[in-house]
Amino acid sequence: MLSLIVRAGRKLCLVPTLSGLDQMDGLNLFGSLVAPWQWQHTHEGILQLLQDDKSDCDHKLRESWRRFCWDNFCAQNRRDSRQFALEPYTPARYRAARRLFGHTSKHGRAVLTGAANSPSCYQKMYEHIATAGCGMCRDCLVFPDWYHLTWKCPCFAAGRPPEPADAIQLRLAWPPSDADPDYNDAVLSHMAAVRAKVWTFAPSSRGRRTHD
Ligand SMILES: [Zn+2]
Repeated sequence: MLSLIVRAGRKLCLVPTLSGLDQMDGLNLFGSLVAPWQWQHTHEGILQLLQDDKSDCDHKLRESWRRFCWDNFCAQNRRDSRQFALEPYTPARYRAARRLFGHTSKHGRAVLTGAANSPSCYQKMYEHIATAGCGMCRDCLVFPDWYHLTWKCPCFAAGRPPEPADAIQLRLAWPPSDADPDYNDAVLSHMAAVRAKVWTFAPSSRGRRTHD
């Protein structure tokens, strides 16, 4: 879902949305049907398909789709999803994340879309249990989870920016709207470098990798 939300960009437009009955059902994502060709959305207001300007309709549909994707991501039984369950979708944060997505590496894009996994996560995925012991810093007492690797592990201390105070930036590098752009870039670059290193050691034997 996060991949959908940041990749969608401005491509979602009204015309293809109305190309068939299935897509018409998709308009229910916008909210409640209140009159013929009119829908009411909690956040986006009223969409009047036959009266509103096309660009306004497109914008409202895009925003409602992004909210839908974010809410679905937060509803999943994932550690990061549960962590953000109370975090609302905000257009400014989405725009900042989309800008970063357009100028980063494949590992940066993995971070932004929630596809950067830790060794602990891979252990859970393939061995069904995570055990203590960081293979990077050799500390046998810590779990090599994403937080440890990105913000605590001595092996990634070089060039590491200060730890973000914002929970979403801490995990996904999606910056809050008031954050310094240079700092946002530094956070994503650092997390992408961690992901690149972890990816080197990720399970890869014939079909095990799930990303890229
Ligand atoms: Zn470590």
